[in-house]
Amino acid sequence: MELIDIGANLTHVSFEQDFETVVNAAQEAGIGHILLTGTDLETSTAAQSMAARDSGTFSSTAGFHPHVASDATAEAMAEIEALLQQPEVVAVGETGLDFNRNYSPPDRQKEVFEQHLQLAVERNKPLFLHQRDAHEEFFKLLSRYRQDLVGGVVHCFTDSETALQDYLELDMHIGITGWICDERRGLELQQHVRLIPDDRLLIETDAPYLLPRSLRPKPKTRRNEPKHLVEVLRVVAECRQQSMAEVAAFTTANAKHLFGLK
Ligand SMILES: [Zn+2]
Repeated sequence: MELIDIGANLTHVSFEQDFETVVNAAQEAGIGHILLTGTDLETSTAAQSMAARDSGTFSSTAGFHPHVASDATAEAMAEIEALLQQPEVVAVGETGLDFNRNYSPPDRQKEVFEQHLQLAVERNKPLFLHQRDAHEEFFKLLSRYRQDLVGGVVHCFTDSETALQDYLELDMHIGITGWICDERRGLELQQHVRLIPDDRLLIETDAPYLLPRSLRPKPKTRRNEPKHLVEVLRVVAECRQQSMAEVAAFTTANAKHLFGLK
C-alpha cells in the first residue's frame, strides 16, 4: 500500500526537533510522498527547499493562505511566482477564502485569491484551495476561472452537500482530512464522503493540525503527523464501504495525476 499525503505543514515549528523521525515514521507507515503546504512566503520558500533537497519524498505548494492575504504584497507575489517555476513546486496555494475569522479583510482575501487563480492559469498548475464559511464567493471566483485551469483540490473539505456538489460540478478534487475521524463534528462529513466519485477523492493529514480523534491508543501529543494518514484512510474506507487497499490505490493515482507526480 502506497499513500500520498497531499497536505502537510512540515515547515511548522513543531517539526523542527524531530523532522527526520517524523519523515521516517511516515515512510514506514507507507506514505511514499508528501506534498508540503506553503501558506505564506516564508513557508512556501522553506517547503520548496525541502522538496528540492529530496524530490523523491516531497513536493510543495506556494501561495498565501487567506488568513494572511494582507501580507501578499506585489513583491511577495512576485517571489511566489518565481517559486512556481521550480519543478518541485507542483501547485498554487494554499489559497482561497476564509470568512470564519477574517484575519485578513474579505475584500483583500478576494483580490489575493484572484491573483492566485491568475497565476495558476499562467503557470498551468493545479490549485491547493482552502474555503471556510465563504462558499458562495469562493465558488463564484473559482467558476469564473475554471475553464482555463488545469484543476485543483478543495483541501480539508468540511462544508455542506451543496458545496460539495458545486465543486464536483466544476470537476475539482476533494481533500479529506482527519476531520472525518471526529465522533462529533465529523458526522456530516462521514455521510458526504460517500458522494465523492473515486477519481475525485484525495486524502491528507494537514499536520500538525487535525490529529484524528479516533486513533487508539490516543497519542501522547496533539501534534498530527503524516503517518496518521493511515487512520484517515481507514475511516474514509469504512464510510465508503470500500477496502483500504482500494481507496489507497485510487487516491494515490489521483494525487499523482493531479499534481503530475512520478
Ligand atoms: Zn487550509
